[in-house]
Amino acid sequence: MSKKDDYQSHNEIVVPGEKIAIIEEFLPDETCFEEEGEIFSSLLGNIVTDRKKHKISIVPKKRYLQINVGDIGIGRVEFVKKQVASLNLHYVNNINIPLPVNAILHVSEASKHYVRNMYEVARPGDWLAVKIIRTSTPLSVGLVGSGLGVIIAFCNHCGQEIEYKRQDLLECPNCGLIQPRITSRNYGKPIIYKPVSHRDENKRQKNMGKIRR
Ligand SMILES: [Zn+2]
Repeated sequence: MSKKDDYQSHNEIVVPGEKIAIIEEFLPDETCFEEEGEIFSSLLGNIVTDRKKHKISIVPKKRYLQINVGDIGIGRVEFVKKQVASLNLHYVNNINIPLPVNAILHVSEASKHYVRNMYEVARPGDWLAVKIIRTSTPLSVGLVGSGLGVIIAFCNHCGQEIEYKRQDLLECPNCGLIQPRITSRNYGKPIIYKPVSHRDENKRQKNMGKIRR
């Protein structure tokens, strides 16, 4: 096999949480992660493999925005595993990002207190207020800080938007299921734009023009 065959850049785009290989084939680097013998992408980007070194990694799609440690982001949870959750950040410091940026939340950064697993923190579809804690790729975020945590959540059982019961506990008004989350003190307050209809989207775009620098 020639050297050229060892190193290969693949054209297809993978998304965070997508299975890209198994551990017998490749070793993941910091752009992907392993769980139960399977390797998943942490990023949106292209797969690059090195068969000789048995390495696999993701080259991320470019970011168009400067993001710094300590910035506050608002993101939607894309997937949840035991140890990590993947988010797409739609706002950073209250500015809408045209192309959402992927970020990883590790369970150890979800609370000041011990949290057993990520399923007690957030679920796919939830919206979170987060702080940027590392700007290396992938971006790392945490929930320790004032106002951080889940701000909108949807029922594990029926998908309905769920209501605040008490800190870190929510209740579904539809099916009554009580479920844990790491809640922000701003839970349920309209501090971000919710997913909007097409008509509202046009209005929002106009308003965004005013704050764009
Ligand atoms: Zn429900």
